[in-house]
Amino acid sequence: MKPGIHPNYKRVLVKCACGNEFESGSVKDEVRVEICSECHPFYTGRQKFATAAGRVDKFNKKYGLK
Ligand SMILES: [Zn+2]
Repeated sequence: MKPGIHPNYKRVLVKCACGNEFESGSVKDEVRVEICSECHPFYTGRQKFATAAGRVDKFNKKYGLK
């Protein structure tokens, strides 16, 4: 990649609200999420983060996504 053209994409530590941490790629120095593969109901089978899911719905509505 040529410098100055692409954003500074790098490996960052993503911190989830459940306390889990994992590496991912981002242009940010630090990423915080409310849902990760360790606590998402889809993976855990639990409905622990129902409020966070509601916020996702709101986000999707705001940007016209279904
Ligand atoms: Zn999590």
